[in-house]
Amino acid sequence: MGAWAQNSSVVESLVEEILATAPQMGRSELEASRKPREELRRLAHLDYVRVMRRTLGYHEMRAVLGEARKVWPNLNRAQLRSPAPGQYAAIASGLNVHFQATPYGGPEGMALRGFYVSKLGRMLKRPLIYVNTAHHPGAVSATFCHEVGHYVTAKLLKPESDEVHFFFGSAHYQHLRDPLELAADAVVSLAAYPESLARTIFAVPWNWGLVARADELPEQAFIRIRSHVKELCGIDFGGALPIGQSFDYLAGMIHYAKLRWALLSEYDL
Ligand SMILES: [Zn+2]
Repeated sequence: MGAWAQNSSVVESLVEEILATAPQMGRSELEASRKPREELRRLAHLDYVRVMRRTLGYHEMRAVLGEARKVWPNLNRAQLRSPAPGQYAAIASGLNVHFQATPYGGPEGMALRGFYVSKLGRMLKRPLIYVNTAHHPGAVSATFCHEVGHYVTAKLLKPESDEVHFFFGSAHYQHLRDPLELAADAVVSLAAYPESLARTIFAVPWNWGLVARADELPEQAFIRIRSHVKELCGIDFGGALPIGQSFDYLAGMIHYAKLRWALLSEYDL
């Protein structure tokens, strides 16, 4: 018990240290988080197929799904449900990952959703996941899934460095161009929209054509996505969301949905 207590206090102070570096490390993301409408507009128009296929190829994306199924055998076969907040620590411990969940508030804190560290030299023998619980529980569950996504795809994509992978709410566009981040986000999208659901939302006549694309979400798809997110995460854009978070979560909803659309039309997943 003594060893564990010591170990967990080492992790706690490491999380504090890393959080203290977040405002500096995420300067451009913090800048972007002050202009949420711009990110929203950019994500809404962007053709995800065109950007994603330059970052991860067909076989790599299928390998990402194969690795993730070692943790979630039903990923993309059935609707995965968010674990209760109290279950995160047990899931992380089952994966042999250090886990911390604390609220990190304030304008700078809220820009951060969480982080993943594969290892930090001798300080960490196991990977570390941190999630910011100052966010809506539905957003926290997406963050947890993204960070576990890093863990399950790490073997495949072999990060060269042991750097900290911060997840800022305003960095969705950057994720599309980074194989490690895109793989983690793809896991979230597949968990949120299994193939059968994705086909009913996205495989409609306006998507017929020779060239796969995923650009403007048609209104019918958007309506279905919005009600699915409300049912799955409890995030209701018509209801009372904490001030300043609506744009952030809306950008996330559009990002994961378009990513899912691209996974279907370009990667046939
Ligand atoms: Zn990440």
